[in-house]
Amino acid sequence: LLSQNYNVICLDNLFTGSKNNISTLLKNPNFKFIEHNIISPVQIKVDEIYNLACPASPIYYQNDPIKTMQTSVYGANNTLEIAKKNNAKIFLASTSEIYGDPALHPQTESYWGNVNPVGVRACYDEGKRCAETLFFDYFRTYNLKIKVARIFNTYGPRMQKHDGRVVSNFIVQALQNKKITIYGDGRQSRSFCFIDNLIDGIISLMNTNDAFTGPVNLGSMEEITIHELAKKIIKMTNSSSKIIYLKLPENDPVRRKPDITLAKKHLSWRPNIKLNHGLQKTIQYFSKIINN
Ligand code: UDP
Repeated sequence: LLSQNYNVICLDNLFTGSKNNISTLLKNPNFKFIEHNIISPVQIKVDEIYNLACPASPIYYQNDPIKTMQTSVYGANNTLEIAKKNNAKIFLASTSEIYGDPALHPQTESYWGNVNPVGVRACYDEGKRCAETLFFDYFRTYNLKIKVARIFNTYGPRMQKHDGRVVSNFIVQALQNKKITIYGDGRQSRSFCFIDNLIDGIISLMNTNDAFTGPVNLGSMEEITIHELAKKIIKMTNSSSKIIYLKLPENDPVRRKPDITLAKKHLSWRPNIKLNHGLQKTIQYFSKIINN
C-alpha cells in the first residue's frame, strides 16, 4: 500500500506481532504506528480499513480465549463503527476455520461449516463467524462497503519463531536438528498459501466493485498431509531431525483445501507460488534469524 502512495496507519497491540517487522516502515513519513488493542474503540480518519486483528495460531488464540473472542467480535464492531463514521470501505480477515472440521471437500463459500461451538477452537472459529455476521448486518443495515475473505493456512518470512503453527514449527525444529513434532498420525491435510500471494489476493479483493462483498476463499489448492510436509522440510533443510508423534489437539480439522472458483472469477486471482518455492524462501528467512 505504501508503494502505491497510500498513507497507512498501522494499529496493533503487538500481542503476536513485532515492531521489528515494521522497522523500515517506521521511517516512512506516510506510515504511522499506533499501539492499541482493538477491543477498545478508537477514533481515526480513514478511507479504507483492513481488519486483520486476532491471533491466528491455535496456541496463541487458545491462550486467552475470552480475549480472542472479544478481539474478533468487539474488534469487528469497533472497526465497523469507524467505517460507518468515515464512509470507508472495510475488509475482514475471516478464516477457513469458520468451516470447522469440514464435511465438504474442498470447501466452497456456500458451505456453512461444522464447528463445535463449545470446543477449545470455538473462541477463534465462532469469534470470526460472529465477525462475519456483524459485517453482513452492517452491510444490510447501513449499506457499508464490506469485503470479507476467508483465509486458509498462510505462511512465509516474518512469522515468529515461536508462532506455534506447523510450517514455522517444522522449519525451526529442522534447522536446529531437533525433533519434528507431528500432532496425531500426520495424515491430516492442509493447503498452504505463501504470504505474497495472499496479500495480492486481499488487495485485489479490496479493488473489486462495491457490489462484491464476498465472503471469498483465499488460499492455495496445493493440499499436503502434515506427514508429507514434515518429510519435505527435513529434506529441504538437509536436517538430521527425527519425527515424533504427539497427541492430536481437540477438534483438529482432518482435511482442508479451498475451492477458489469465486476468487478466480471476481478477483482474477490464483496463488502462483508453489509450496516448494515458498518453503525455500521461508527456510532462508528462518536460517538468518534462528540464532537471534
Ligand atoms: N501441527 C503439527 N505439529 C506442529 C504444529 C501443528 O502436527 O508442531 C498440525 C496441527 O495439529 C494441524 C496442522 O498441523 O493438524 C496445521 O496446524 P496449524 O496450527 O499450523 O494450523 P491450523 O490449520 O490447525 O489452524
